[in-house]
Amino acid sequence: MQRVVVDAAGRVVDPDVPLLHADDLGVLHGDGLFETMLVWDGRVCGTARHLRRLAWSAEPAGLPAVDVDHVARLVEIAAREWTSSAEGALRVVYTAGREGTAAPTLYVSISEVPERVEAARRDGVRAVSLPSAYRSGLAAQAPWLLAGVKSLSYASNVAALRHVQALGLDDAVFLSVDGTVLEGPRSSVVAVIGGALVTPRRDDGILPGTTQEAVFELAQQRGIASREESLHVNDLYDADEVWLLSSITLAARVRELDGRALNQTSVVGVAELARESAAS
Ligand code: PLP
Repeated sequence: MQRVVVDAAGRVVDPDVPLLHADDLGVLHGDGLFETMLVWDGRVCGTARHLRRLAWSAEPAGLPAVDVDHVARLVEIAAREWTSSAEGALRVVYTAGREGTAAPTLYVSISEVPERVEAARRDGVRAVSLPSAYRSGLAAQAPWLLAGVKSLSYASNVAALRHVQALGLDDAVFLSVDGTVLEGPRSSVVAVIGGALVTPRRDDGILPGTTQEAVFELAQQRGIASREESLHVNDLYDADEVWLLSSITLAARVRELDGRALNQTSVVGVAELARESAAS
């Protein structure tokens, strides 16, 4: 199983040699950002969108501005090293650096996409809705919550996925205190309602997904309507299609939500749109 690690200076380093210091704030506090991109057929998908989100996130996360061209070069170096025929998950990690310094830590790594991804693309997922502490308008009132920022503080998302696995399920959909649909722990929620693609409003405190954005742009070019709108969980139960979109899985159809079998009609080819947008 191949692994690639490229340090901030663009050196390809031994993935078995430790790279971080014990006092890196990314480790101590989850103080930092990350992006995950798919390496598919030898190319990195959606680099520009991911680097745009990373650069935007630095300010709310209190980190120094990102040198986007430099990070893009590291991504290229890492991708050139990826000779495996397997799909890769490329991570850009950008932390607040060592305690007491103002110098960020930056590196890029690639590892194989986990097996669950192919199964989710092929078979879809069984999901459950889970409460979160968010309510409408909170993101704007409480910028320290870093809603909408792809922060390294990801432990509660991972805990939600562990909870879901313990229930014998595959994934989750977070709901706000008001009962509106937010996002998955590692994906954006997109429903097909009345022939249109609908996703929750990004100012409701969700991460703006690069896959959802790319799919909506492509849909627009194809004349398929798309919009951001507050959704209630009942809207998902009744939708023609419900999908979890993300850079690595691309599109996983939600087969079952909260024990209810969802509609399996295909009105819009969401999986095809996601694959096409990744390939373009
Ligand atoms: N929302 C959350 C919380 C995520 O972690 C992710 C991806 O990891 C997404 C949405 C989807 O974002 P993207 O399509 O950029 O991968």
